[in-house]
Amino acid sequence: MKLESFWQATAPTFTGAASGELPAKADVVVVGGGFTGLSAAYNLALAGVDVVVLEAGDVLSQASGRNGGHCNTGVSQNFASLVESLGLEQASIYYHAYTEAVDYVQSIVRDEAIDCDFIRTGKLKLASKAKHFPSLVKTYELLKRTVDSNVELIDASHIRDEVGSDAFHGGLLQKGGGQMHMGKFGIGLAQAAAEKGAAIYPQTPVTGLQQIDGHRYRVSTSRGDIDAGRVLLATGTSDKGPFSWFQRRIVPVGSFIIATEPLAPAKLQAALINNRTYVTSLNIGNYFRTTADNRLIFGGRARFAISNPTSDARSGGVLRTGLGELFPSLANANIDYCWGGLVDMTADRLPRAGEHEGLFYSMGYSGHGTQMSVYMGKVMAALVTGKPVSNPWQRSNWAAMPGYFGKPWFLPVAGLYYKAKDKVS
Ligand SMILES: Cc1cc2nc3c(=O)[nH]c(=O)nc-3n(C[C@H](O)[C@H](O)[C@H](O)COP(=O)(O)OP(=O)(O)OC[C@H]3O[C@@H](n4cnc5c(N)ncnc54)[C@H](O)[C@@H]3O)c2cc1C
Repeated sequence: MKLESFWQATAPTFTGAASGELPAKADVVVVGGGFTGLSAAYNLALAGVDVVVLEAGDVLSQASGRNGGHCNTGVSQNFASLVESLGLEQASIYYHAYTEAVDYVQSIVRDEAIDCDFIRTGKLKLASKAKHFPSLVKTYELLKRTVDSNVELIDASHIRDEVGSDAFHGGLLQKGGGQMHMGKFGIGLAQAAAEKGAAIYPQTPVTGLQQIDGHRYRVSTSRGDIDAGRVLLATGTSDKGPFSWFQRRIVPVGSFIIATEPLAPAKLQAALINNRTYVTSLNIGNYFRTTADNRLIFGGRARFAISNPTSDARSGGVLRTGLGELFPSLANANIDYCWGGLVDMTADRLPRAGEHEGLFYSMGYSGHGTQMSVYMGKVMAALVTGKPVSNPWQRSNWAAMPGYFGKPWFLPVAGLYYKAKDKVS
């Protein structure tokens, strides 16, 4: 079993990196070479803007290259709860933004002819307990009546037509959801950005930011300084660099994934019959899908640890057991890859994007970001160049979390709480 991301290990090599010295200045400096930063760079370069991307590691080295591979419509929260807390109008804006985001990913795949196995076969949320099904019914009725006619409810007597498992008690299908090979997509996006003129510098951590005036900043890196007309922070859960204001607002939460060996197609299809993306209804649940080469990609919170090789391997063991419990027919499959990553969570699980002290930022996608990060790259490219654009995640106030300074000491306690909740509810 290799302790690396299947998406990173099987992606093409990025050949568009800029070489030589950093330029002395740039119209826009984007910090971070994940989907947010690469999409922003792609859109800025398309508009003819002089843009430099500074990435601490390799492109896609963090969440964008280490996720579960789902590219779904719908908000990350239960839509009915979101309506209760924010009202139907605001919740609908958020819901529609995700549909637009998946459409936008699909349009880039098409326009740039990126070979990344993109398909749109829907997302199925599975009731892990019979008592979870009524909540799916409520959400289904609300979605159908308000924001999404493309949904279907599958009751317990028909769920076996969807999944070859006795573990589920019905499901809610959102048919607009998609999936793709995240490494192939991300490298395709990076190549397209570079071809259009973005200068992308991997292995270039930003170490300092000094405001000159307004939006202008001097950006310090391990390879020298750049005078930037505008700076966009697309740094995800970053724990490095001068971003303490953001580190008090984003909590890095570990999530873990295993990928089986390629399986006999008939055996895999008997388990995941319609090749959708799947999530379970538990708080500490699982998410899974297949790949074009017939693997099962199976993820979950597994343990409340931060991702590192030791915790990835231990979490892989937990996931393997969980996979066997849900799909006994696949329990003996060999595991080829096992990895973890850090999810950029906000307190309310809603992304944030806007401006702070002249710095532009977009982050906090809370586990539902493969589509939104790409979409927000386009939105932020317009915002930093002063073009009119609607930013769904602009908020008047983004408060720091009390008692939190970047080390999530409370996660083990939260883990115990949610595990107990899953037992009783
Ligand atoms: C395990 C896991 C599973 C997930 N599964 C899904 C899923 O199935 N579906 C879904 O929609 N979402 C999922 N997500 C979330 C999704 O992957 C992210 O929301 C999205 O990729 C965020 O992209 P980003 O570009 O904003 O951040 P990232 O991809 O994290 O990129 C930020 C980049 O900034 C760089 N950086 C940080 N600090 C500095 C610095 N000082 N100088 C220079 N560079 C710096 C980092 O090296 C990194 O490459 C998952 C996330 C994880 C971790």
